[in-house]
Amino acid sequence: MITNIIMNILFIILGLVGGSFASALSYRALNDISISKGRSFCPKCKETLDWKDLIPVFSWLKNKGKCSHCKNEISPRYPIIELATAFIFVTIYHAYDSFFAALFFCIVATLLVALTACDLEKKLLPIQITYLILPFAFIAKLFSGDGIFSAILLGLICHYGAKGMKILHKKLRSKDALGEGDIHFLGVAGFTITIELLPVFLVASGSLGILTGLLWKRIYNEEEFPFGPAMIVSLLLCIILHGSI
Ligand SMILES: [Zn+2]
Repeated sequence: MITNIIMNILFIILGLVGGSFASALSYRALNDISISKGRSFCPKCKETLDWKDLIPVFSWLKNKGKCSHCKNEISPRYPIIELATAFIFVTIYHAYDSFFAALFFCIVATLLVALTACDLEKKLLPIQITYLILPFAFIAKLFSGDGIFSAILLGLICHYGAKGMKILHKKLRSKDALGEGDIHFLGVAGFTITIELLPVFLVASGSLGILTGLLWKRIYNEEEFPFGPAMIVSLLLCIILHGSI
């Protein structure tokens, strides 16, 4: 009982930190700044942030959603991303019997949150983040007892299947259905899920993709919409189901 409470708190804290890291990673990937370079700074005044300004959710609330240096508004998306990641972490922790499988799938989830932020902001899935998922998914799969050979095979099938679909769609409709980033992501997603969950992943991605397309058209009046979030939510769903069943 006590251990369970401590573990829940641990995964909430790790999730908040993971969410904060995901925001920083997406910002740096979209602006071509190395993640290892320098400390976090305010995107508006570029002032280096003190540790007091970097506590997930708490700092945003304490500074009333403003930068402590320039007093410019800091988007509520940051605490929202941190809280959402904490929720995902706790859900993954409860899905898996193996602590380490849960932990490494949580790292995968952090990278997925960063990719969602990138795709929603710039309709881009940076391949350096996409491929960073592979080593962590590999370790998570070792701890959850999945076959690595079948994972590689499924990854290749998804990658080349998506590539084939893109070429076919371009020939038939003379426009792109999937971006390059989506194709790389589908390969990595194939490696991360298992064959049993492939139908769930495809149906969920397709349905959520249609929903995103409709919402995007209504809100932004644009035909082209980011497909990443639909695939990412479906992959997270599969990661959670994989641990639960
Ligand atoms: Zn500032």
